[in-house]
Amino acid sequence: MEARVRDSRTAVITGSTSGIGLGIARGLAADGCNVVLNSFTDSDEDHALAEEIAREYAVKAAYLQADMADGAACRRLVDETARRFGSLDILVNNAGIQHVAAVEDFPPEKWDAVIGINLSSAFHTTAAAIPHMRQCSSGRIVNIASAHGLRASPFKSAYVAAKHGMVGLTKTVALELAEDRITCNAICPGYVLTPLVEAQIPDQMKTHRMDRDTVVREVMLARQPTREFATVEQIATATVFLCSDGAAQITGTTLSVDGGWTAQ
Ligand code: NAD
Repeated sequence: MEARVRDSRTAVITGSTSGIGLGIARGLAADGCNVVLNSFTDSDEDHALAEEIAREYAVKAAYLQADMADGAACRRLVDETARRFGSLDILVNNAGIQHVAAVEDFPPEKWDAVIGINLSSAFHTTAAAIPHMRQCSSGRIVNIASAHGLRASPFKSAYVAAKHGMVGLTKTVALELAEDRITCNAICPGYVLTPLVEAQIPDQMKTHRMDRDTVVREVMLARQPTREFATVEQIATATVFLCSDGAAQITGTTLSVDGGWTAQ
């Protein structure tokens, strides 16, 4: 197999200062990619994180502030990545938020925020990324959807709508770019033990009067047949695979990392 120079690939990962996005940034950096981290904040810690990744993996890394609720900022993030690093090879649409409420009580501004950050941001970043990827005659777009892109749960209308929308966007973009050697796929994680999910455990223990192990197994992972969380590292591994040469003919599909949730 022909060796390929790996260290010239550049990846931008939206919403990557914590959890899955940060894990993916680390995974791609370990695979030799230069990485751009992003969130809506602009703190010293954000920039220090990028410096730490650059040192640890001997790649170039930068932090770029951009609010994924703002379409123009999404597009600027992509263009600025390509300008700074000379190319854009990988786009990972990961930024996401959640709000839980019954449809009739769902605050309209929360609906707009969930749809904007979880779905519309991916439309804007993808639209901006295509000309840069076409210039390189290749590219990889990985959308971090969810098991909720394939199945519904009550009280998560905006999230479920956004994630189903992301799966539809993935298929459409894949078809439009099929002859450009640019692939577009969605990863659909089940419950992943990120700091965000970890923080919910004490409340769930109190509500259900259960110990940690029981609440995790019987409540949080009730729909995940393995009864184990997926890990950030496993989502990162799936992303690195979809960005590899071996995945060149995988496009327009979903890759579930959900312990069997959607097999049901
Ligand atoms: P997280 O809260 O740890 O990370 C979310 C990231 O997005 C953070 O870096 C945050 O700063 C950033 N972000 C939030 N709003 C933003 C905005 N307006 N602009 C830019 N960045 C913004 O959450 P996570 O659990 O790592 O989730 C990451 C993605 O994975 C989300 O799309 C989520 O829907 C999806 N997902 C998570 C799970 C899970 O169980 N954790 C399961 C399925 C899918």
